[in-house]
Amino acid sequence: SKLRVGLLFGGRSGEHEVSINSARAIATALQTGDNQSKYEVLPVYIPKNGVWQASEVGQQVLETGTPLVCDDSNPQQLWDFPPEVKTVDVWFPILHGPNGEDGTIQGLLTLMRVPFVGSGVLGSSVGMDKIAMKTAFAQVGLPQVNYKFIERSQVWSNACVFPKLCDDIEQSLGYPCFVKPANLGSSVGIAKVRSRSELESALDSAASYDRRIVIETGVTAREVECAVLGNDNPKASVIGEITYDSDFYDYETKYTDGRAQLHIPAQLPDNIITQIQEMAIEGFKAIDASGLARVDFFYVEATQEIFINEINTLPGFTAFSMYPQLWEASGIKFPELVDQLIQLAVEKA
Ligand code: ATP
Ligand code: MG
Ligand code: MG
Ligand code: MG
Repeated sequence: SKLRVGLLFGGRSGEHEVSINSARAIATALQTGDNQSKYEVLPVYIPKNGVWQASEVGQQVLETGTPLVCDDSNPQQLWDFPPEVKTVDVWFPILHGPNGEDGTIQGLLTLMRVPFVGSGVLGSSVGMDKIAMKTAFAQVGLPQVNYKFIERSQVWSNACVFPKLCDDIEQSLGYPCFVKPANLGSSVGIAKVRSRSELESALDSAASYDRRIVIETGVTAREVECAVLGNDNPKASVIGEITYDSDFYDYETKYTDGRAQLHIPAQLPDNIITQIQEMAIEGFKAIDASGLARVDFFYVEATQEIFINEINTLPGFTAFSMYPQLWEASGIKFPELVDQLIQLAVEKA
């Protein structure tokens, strides 16, 4: 009999729309070729109010690609899961950002005792929090740009502490530097700053997104990404590169058609490719990821330096996203990739 796949998408995050697009591509792949006879899809949509919707509503959002308009006023309904949820054999959560990529959903699915695609609670939460992630990378000696961690309370402190904090950042990191809320994705809340006044407003803005903030030295480098697939013996894909005309790879550049170009495979020396692939697997293991992750790097051509930037444990998964395209170029087609991920979930459970 067919395995019933609960495709969990939408979610309470700024990447809700991306998640719908990822889920559409995965649902199609589950109805393609050999997958048709192996799997049956139950779409489970999480609208922005967090109240799970299965079957008809899920199917409708998948078909139209449009988020459901909903009100946020009835939080007790959060625990009234649709009854179909009990029939799921394996979950495929394709939620990006907070409340989905960060271990929260993974905790719930672990308690349900149903296998699910991707990292567990630890890998997901360490991967999402840029402070925990950088600490884990540093622990295994992965090269990173210089960084500092601060807390919201330091930004919103009194008029004596804040200027000292800014002095300290200027001295230790210099300009340009990047200010990032610790727990987001898709570049939401990230600012590139070049002056004291930009630093002050970027810190204030980041503090409104998150209690924890990361500040990094800005590097001038090529941006390359590597896809990882597997559990205990993960494999790395070919490398992809992103180019764009904007100041950096910000939200608008990521999601406006034609603003960014993906180059797969990236034109790089063989020894650099090998190093990036090894670092991607080391980073994957350092946070205890499983199933899949996309690892982002900076490559400074002049000095041949490679810095690991970050890991995404549930990367964008539309037909045009980097993760599936990297595997396609490595010999694994989209439907086969989806099949392998589900098999990895079942194996791990
Ligand atoms: P994703 O959508 O990949 O999850 P994210 O929100 O986790 O993104 P990052 O990947 O950390 O954010 O940063 C977003 C972009 O900002 C990078 O792709 C790069 O263009 C730019 N950037 C971030 N940090 C630096 C840095 N230290 N030096 C130069 N550019 C940077
Ligand atoms: Mg990220
Ligand atoms: Mg992300
Ligand atoms: Mg990134």
